[in-house]
Amino acid sequence: MSLLTFDSVSYKYAGSNTPEVLQNVNISFEKGVFYSIIGPSGSGKTTALSLAGGLDIPTGGVVRFEGRDIREIGYTEYRRRHVALVFQSYNLIPYLNAEENVCLSMEIGGTYPHERKERARQLLASVGLNEADIHRPVPRLSGGQQQRVAVARALAGDAPVILADEPTGNLDSESATEIVAMLRSLAHEAGRCVVVVSHSAEVAKASDVVLRFHHHTLEPLERKAPGRGNGPAGGEAP
Ligand code: ADP
Ligand code: MG
Repeated sequence: MSLLTFDSVSYKYAGSNTPEVLQNVNISFEKGVFYSIIGPSGSGKTTALSLAGGLDIPTGGVVRFEGRDIREIGYTEYRRRHVALVFQSYNLIPYLNAEENVCLSMEIGGTYPHERKERARQLLASVGLNEADIHRPVPRLSGGQQQRVAVARALAGDAPVILADEPTGNLDSESATEIVAMLRSLAHEAGRCVVVVSHSAEVAKASDVVLRFHHHTLEPLERKAPGRGNGPAGGEAP
């Protein structure tokens, strides 16, 4: 069974005279696969991600997690347990340090207090932050470091679905490459379902499946090379 499914999903912003942003989108997302979503500005990428993340309610159709309508699971429960979000603007809490930011999302997720600090340190070390960085207020970290904290925070809750909106948009190319490698290994090594909205050709190139907006719907782009299948083991770079 697919992890996350869009079942004839449509979306129209309330009060707007414009046509639906999404029309009848049918798409499935699997565990262990790194997806990128591409399309021109205004095509609906952020809207699609908001629907996948349970931040918005479709005006038509159903978003399912493990086959269940997320409305049935409950939006709060879904966001708390099943999805994690990484934004272009990091969305960290500025008066807390890196460790505290990561711990905070574990409190929301329900980890025991004594385990939180240790786990936050492990996660921050795993995304390449050293001991001094971990205790620095986040505005004093570089953009690349802040985005690593955001990735560590997304991992803190063990959510099987990781959604990222332009996560490399504010980063220099070296940091961007590292964040993309991290997201990729989350899919391939940690078995998460990773969906990244991006303008970046590098992100699309690193992903297993490229989904493109076309006439208000999402469709898979032709595979770039044979053998890079839409499966858990697919997409290993040489
Ligand atoms: P993208 O992320 O691909 O740039 P968005 O999903 O943000 O696109 O937006 C898709 C379309 O929906 C655009 O035409 C945008 O103007 C419109 N839109 C986005 N947010 C709102 C809103 N809050 N109210 C009305 N229209 C919106
Ligand atoms: Mg957007």
